[in-house]
Amino acid sequence: MAQQVLKPGIEPADLVWNDGVPESTRFGDVYFSRDNGLEETRYVFLDRNRLRERFQAVEDGGHFVIAETGFGTGLNFLATWELWQEVVADKSAILHFVSVERFPLTPEDLARALESWPTLAPFAEELRANYPPLTHGVHRIHLAGGRIRLTLYFGDILDAWSELSFCADAWFLDGFAPSLNPEMWLDQAIGHIRSHSKAGTTLATFTAVGRIRRALADSGFTMQKTAGFGRKRDMLIGELEDPAQTPDTGIKESHPAITIIGAGISGCLLARNLADRGVPVTLIEAADDAGSAASGNRQGALYVKLGVEFNDQTELALTALTFSQRAYKPYEGRFWHPTGLLQLACDDKEAERQQRFLERSHYPESLLRPVDSMQASELCGIATQHSGLWFPGCGWLEPAKACTLLAEHPLIQKRYGVQVEMLSRHRERWHISASDGSTFESETLVLCTGHTTPDLLPFSGNIRLKRIRGQVTHIPSNDLNNPDCVVCGHRYLNPVSDEYAVTGATFDLRDDNPDVTLESHRENLDELNQMLPGVGAAHLLEGLTLNDLTGRVAFRCTTHDYQPVAGPCDIGSDHSGLYLFTGLGSKGLTYAPLLAEYLGDRLTGQPSCLPLKLQRRVDANRILR
Ligand code: SAM
Repeated sequence: MAQQVLKPGIEPADLVWNDGVPESTRFGDVYFSRDNGLEETRYVFLDRNRLRERFQAVEDGGHFVIAETGFGTGLNFLATWELWQEVVADKSAILHFVSVERFPLTPEDLARALESWPTLAPFAEELRANYPPLTHGVHRIHLAGGRIRLTLYFGDILDAWSELSFCADAWFLDGFAPSLNPEMWLDQAIGHIRSHSKAGTTLATFTAVGRIRRALADSGFTMQKTAGFGRKRDMLIGELEDPAQTPDTGIKESHPAITIIGAGISGCLLARNLADRGVPVTLIEAADDAGSAASGNRQGALYVKLGVEFNDQTELALTALTFSQRAYKPYEGRFWHPTGLLQLACDDKEAERQQRFLERSHYPESLLRPVDSMQASELCGIATQHSGLWFPGCGWLEPAKACTLLAEHPLIQKRYGVQVEMLSRHRERWHISASDGSTFESETLVLCTGHTTPDLLPFSGNIRLKRIRGQVTHIPSNDLNNPDCVVCGHRYLNPVSDEYAVTGATFDLRDDNPDVTLESHRENLDELNQMLPGVGAAHLLEGLTLNDLTGRVAFRCTTHDYQPVAGPCDIGSDHSGLYLFTGLGSKGLTYAPLLAEYLGDRLTGQPSCLPLKLQRRVDANRILR
């Protein structure tokens, strides 16, 4: 029965099928009614929460939040999405669906379970195509171009409700019968339901058990028994009436504009994220184009090094990696090239580290798998002696192109070629003064300014950001054997694009030289040669001069703890409305999509895609001392 899986893996649901209806062997209960599961879902959860009329009241730029206990086959979710599509289709509003699942269905079981509902097929297909790997933690999934945002917590319900930040408009309580699964209905879980609700929040559940009704009533919901679906006599509905609050209808007023300084990958992703949610953005950039500084290399790899232990730091890296793979998918072939990525064990130390990593954790093969030297050679198309890890969903990007494309949106007002000199705050607004005399005002300001952030911050003190020089080398296509995928080890090497393959980058902690140097080219080529001699680039080192190769220098920005920064500066009311989004080091392409989503959630008051423990890891205040 319960097969123990090392983290971040998670045990999948154990199913038996009876006439197309999945049943849990673990709980001895069905996922949906044998009579007509879809009709039951509509009756119990959609109609008893009055979703049709409440969806109709949601305005442009608004959002509605549904929370569910037990994602199961996703039937409730898909039926809700279908209704949203029908009622809210022509508005730019967002449906957030927050659900928890301790034993997720495998993608194959999910597809099979959803075959029963032909009318939901297009929604089911999109869900299946974006279904996350079976790993513990929070998965934020964009569907219908981001108008549907599914936050799927794979793990236990009590952890989910204590780690997630959201406030539900409606609840679907759907966790198998209380007699078969008492854990799902503990008083503690019901306490969490109350704390994630507000005046006017409704709930519906198929059960009519007296203990559940009393517990929900004791926590503040006005409960009512009502006729159940089909042969079921009763079910429960409830509404939170809090005399201290006026009911919130879920209708939100329009958002004031937000100003972002810095059009690198973080600034452009955040601007786009907000604009897609209907928030107008002013994007200010000193250079004449987006992606001109650290995000301006010809190529960059989508890559993280996952820690041996599955701790919070590894969880953040993994969450960012899987989110970015989904986030870049719509741009495949434009600036995103998912060729797969090989992380070679280039020396004994790394080979031993990868061994420990594989012993102490479990990752689904769709995410990564170990490969021997033969398989590694085959995957990259170049002979290598090293074994390694294969990441099939990774690849490389054209960062500057990504920045330019992302910033193209009618709600993004681009102010490029504007060098911001000073920030000050008067009458609860930020005043932004530029060197050409222009000024801007904004209630909310986000600095996506990399290593120049300390120069702009309107307060002094020790700001724990450092800059690290990185030079890349462009290798002409006829000077190397072109790899079929990204190869990482002592350096990274990307497949040839536009007649060059980019390799790099150096990591020069105390070097401020902005110019390309021969020494850094040599270092890159030496390391590349050691990592993958079969690439055949060693000849370039013979008699190399600075004129022989091109390259590029950029300065990454990192923090004292090498973790990124995304969040508000909470250092007194004088600075409210000021956010930092920086410190992404050499992993900006991987971290930025998730952190842009997190800031987008925060700035619009929508459910968070990051659990509290990961919010703390990226907290901006830790670098302000
Ligand atoms: N809403 C689902 C649908 O539309 O298909 C059906 C949910 S099914 C009746 C109940 C779900 O709760 C199962 O998928 C089960 O694995 C999950 N579950 C049971 N105990 C749990 C726990 N302690 N934490 C989180 N999920 C749990």
